Amino acid sequence: MKTRKPVYLDCNSTTRIHPKALETMMPFLKEDYGNSSSLHKKGSSARAALESARAVIGDALGTEGVDIIFTSGGTESDNLAIKGICQKNRGRGKHIITSSIEHMAVLEACRFVQAQDFDITYLPVDRYGMVDPLDVKKAVNDHTILVSIMHANNEVGTIQPIREISEIIREINENRETSVDNRKPSACKRIYIHTDAVQTFGKIPIDVDALGVDLLSMSAHKLYGPKGIGALYIRKSTQISSFMHGGHQERDLRAGTVNVAGVVGFAKAVEISRANFKDKKRQECLRDKLYRGLLRSIKGIILNGHPDNGLYNTLNLCFEGVNSTSLIASLDLKGIFVSAGSACIASSPEPSHVLKAMHVPEEYIKSCVRFSMGADNTDEDITYCVQEIPEIINRLRRTHS
Ligand code: PLP
Repeated sequence: MKTRKPVYLDCNSTTRIHPKALETMMPFLKEDYGNSSSLHKKGSSARAALESARAVIGDALGTEGVDIIFTSGGTESDNLAIKGICQKNRGRGKHIITSSIEHMAVLEACRFVQAQDFDITYLPVDRYGMVDPLDVKKAVNDHTILVSIMHANNEVGTIQPIREISEIIREINENRETSVDNRKPSACKRIYIHTDAVQTFGKIPIDVDALGVDLLSMSAHKLYGPKGIGALYIRKSTQISSFMHGGHQERDLRAGTVNVAGVVGFAKAVEISRANFKDKKRQECLRDKLYRGLLRSIKGIILNGHPDNGLYNTLNLCFEGVNSTSLIASLDLKGIFVSAGSACIASSPEPSHVLKAMHVPEEYIKSCVRFSMGADNTDEDITYCVQEIPEIINRLRRTHS
């Protein structure tokens, strides 16, 4: 009997490395293994590869390579942004604004600085998971030094109004600068804007100037690059310190030997994703086909996330009366791989903090599943899901009642 290829619908958790990205990395794991800080030829060829990869990532963000610091992934980039800004600017103010639906990398970094006397405002979201820019404006006070709001949410896909938020902050910063006449801009309490773009970088075009952000986190494994490599965009003149102590790599902002093979694979994946932005429409059609197909044959479905302003690959649904852990296991047996939400807290018994913040009732939260499409998914994959899932839901509902 012919076995079916599994249907992987968990691309917001991670993606398969693109063969071309892997191929580009191989020489740097074999013959070109030099340390990019070494002064000999092996070092200089690693350094050249590192710098050209940096330029590729900078270009993808509409900026220069010098503004990019390589890290071990999205978690480290978020930590560097938050801890780095807090440490360097603590003399100017100790207030941060973030949202209640951030990834744990941001929430836990905020908790860390909170224990060091920082005051954190966690903004609410509406039922679609959207932050209101006016709430940001209201939350700013004289001590605010950082606003950190994610670009798109990993669980429900809602895209946040970062440009509107940065416009508000730009005006506040301008007023602050004019009110501290004769002082250098760096001496006034400038508010920095960080966005966690781990779920958008590689999926949608990003221009850091158009978005108006000072810091932006990225991760390679969400865009068909290798795991364990990411980057933080840092706008020139941003006052930030390192939280990793050691060597002088990455402009003294990230000590440690650079993962050159990872960086090179990351840059290749970025080039490929830029050439494939047109796949967006196809993935969006697959997502909509899945949603419509399930709605047609299953009652008691609730959509979590913004109906119009969400990531084109993400569909988060509650299936009334079904436990998501049982559903994920049943789908797994059918070769359909999905998550209930964030992979890093998948084993936690706590209900999703994102859905809680969106005021989804707890009994529904326990029944939610996230489908996240990717470049490998086909129309047949979705036809298979639409065929198999209703029967699984019916069975689980029958055994539950
Ligand atoms: N931020 C968001 C929004 C994410 O979705 C993730 C990963 O799921 C991260 C940060 C962490 O990225 P990494 O796995 O590269 O540490």
